[in-house]
Amino acid sequence: MKTLAQRQQEYARLLLTEGLALQKGQMLAIDCPVDQAWFARLCAHAAYELGCREVVMNWNDDALTREKYLHAENDVFDSVHSWTADFFEQVSAGGGAWLAVHASDPENLQGCDPDRIQRAQIASGKALENFRRRETNNEFPWCVCSIPTEKWAQKVFPDKPVAEAMGALWETILTAACVDGGDAAANWRAHIEELHRRTEVLNSMELRTLRYQNALGTDLTVALPEGHYWAGGAEKCVTSGVPFSANIPTEEVFTLPVKTGVNGIVYASKPLSLHGNVVEDFGFALKDGKIVRAFAAKGEAVLKKAIAVDEGASYLGEVALVPYDSPISRSGLLFYNTLFDENASCHFAFGEAYPCITGAEGMDQAALEARGMNRSMTHVDFMVGTADLEITGETKDGKKVPIFRDGNFAF
Ligand code: ZN
Ligand code: ZN
Repeated sequence: MKTLAQRQQEYARLLLTEGLALQKGQMLAIDCPVDQAWFARLCAHAAYELGCREVVMNWNDDALTREKYLHAENDVFDSVHSWTADFFEQVSAGGGAWLAVHASDPENLQGCDPDRIQRAQIASGKALENFRRRETNNEFPWCVCSIPTEKWAQKVFPDKPVAEAMGALWETILTAACVDGGDAAANWRAHIEELHRRTEVLNSMELRTLRYQNALGTDLTVALPEGHYWAGGAEKCVTSGVPFSANIPTEEVFTLPVKTGVNGIVYASKPLSLHGNVVEDFGFALKDGKIVRAFAAKGEAVLKKAIAVDEGASYLGEVALVPYDSPISRSGLLFYNTLFDENASCHFAFGEAYPCITGAEGMDQAALEARGMNRSMTHVDFMVGTADLEITGETKDGKKVPIFRDGNFAF
């Protein structure tokens, strides 16, 4: 039996070898909560063993972030310091690898001014535009992962004492990442193969539209662009050609919708942790792609601000399929963390689309937008999968095909 410490080490190594496919001589930037600095050190140690050129850190801290939103002067939310922009520019333009450890209190900014949150989103969206676009285009390897923090673990396991909640969340994270005691890298690769198989089936169908229906009241028709393809598992870095896994864990296969081709109503099936606030019981009505009505029982102000950061924020940019019986979903837990909740449920994102169009590398912005690709400074996943979700596809030649039945793939 491997100890927890051994499995954590193996997880750190998996993030570097399978998540980022870190190369000898490559720079690594890590975004990590400062109260879990030990984990960043573990990753840095593993990175240097793999021949990393240099590890650079972008520390973050929930407590300081909250202090800033509550007490800083009002105009600081309208700009980003040039050294922050430089950091992201140098990492992404210089072929660095980017490890983002997402772990924060889902309600860290509760009670903070939604206007400040929105202005900060817009400021960082503009200042870090190049970085985000290179990320979306896979021009450098990036990997999003999570580790427990005390406040987050307590939110997921409210009935357990802190130490037990931390242990339980570690167990969940390691299991979801295939670090289950066997050979983690081999397990991970087998999992990626299974996701590729699903994308191949979907790609062979050449779907034109998808219609979503369930008892929550969702009835949404989503057009898919000509030449779209389904992606999932590992993707290739377009500059080095090396495959990497942008999310660990991952259970999704995804593509993009036609920006102006989404019509109907969609209800969220899980709460959404959005910029330090939790949004609950919400949904959208869409007409010709645009969100014409957004509603939420809780967090409506933050939600409405989030879909208004720019024009593209009120259109969809991602269509992702995840079976209701996926391992993360079967845990029955609500994570209030998008990396985990998105991999437990079919989801959409509002905002920026990934260029899942054959030949996209050789197309300019205008050509991609002509195919229906949405552009925005934001990209926010929201979950819509339920046990009774039905998705029916229509192919190029008008044939109806079952894609999801009773919340799971029909093939
Ligand atoms: Zn997704
Ligand atoms: Zn997404």
